[in-house]
Amino acid sequence: MNQHLKQLINLSKVDKEIDAFEPQIEEANSKYEAALAKKKSIDTDIENLTNEIKEEQLKKHKNELHLAELSQKLEDNSKKTAEIKTEREMKSLQLEEEIAKEQITFANEEIARLEKIIEAKQEQVEVAKVSLDEVDSNLESVKSDVDKKLEVINKSRQKVFLQKEKLLASVNQKGLTFYQKIRRWARNTTVVSVEDQACMGCYMLLSDKIYSDVIRAEDITTCPHCGRILHVEETNE
Ligand SMILES: [Zn+2]
Repeated sequence: MNQHLKQLINLSKVDKEIDAFEPQIEEANSKYEAALAKKKSIDTDIENLTNEIKEEQLKKHKNELHLAELSQKLEDNSKKTAEIKTEREMKSLQLEEEIAKEQITFANEEIARLEKIIEAKQEQVEVAKVSLDEVDSNLESVKSDVDKKLEVINKSRQKVFLQKEKLLASVNQKGLTFYQKIRRWARNTTVVSVEDQACMGCYMLLSDKIYSDVIRAEDITTCPHCGRILHVEETNE
């Protein structure tokens, strides 16, 4: 077989191996990223709940202030009662008192309602904090798992990189440029096998002439339909 062709076939195999590491790395990282995303979503939940609790507490505080004002008013009114001269004044004062009492009832009800909401949200925060603790402790083990996997992947990848370096040192520049030009669009199908006289890159049939060129492998032959580099698998030779 043509030496240059053989080098390009080997190079394409090494490149394929290098690319095959990418999904492995991504898969390993995605587990950690998923755990991180879960942590982030719980953090956001807690933050939102905390803000909501603050808002409800502010509403509660306003009601409490209102309640204090109303109590003061009732107290003032009872003092005024002593100074009342006419029945009209008396009626007006009674009306004011009634309104104030109604408002007090309403404010108390509102405070009780807000307290229930606050309590429920605080419970939700507690539950979220428990899940956060679980996620946090899980995160550490996920991280160390991922790191271990990445270490193994990197070791094998390093080996393949070394193989590629050796190959690149021996491959001729013209053949390499040719290969890289095709690889830009064909990626891992830059060098494809021929099966049943068809290019396994574009699946088009090859002429007898091209087919015999590929089998002889005296030179680098490309597919006339797609331009990929063709070869016949060694077992078929
Ligand atoms: Zn083709």
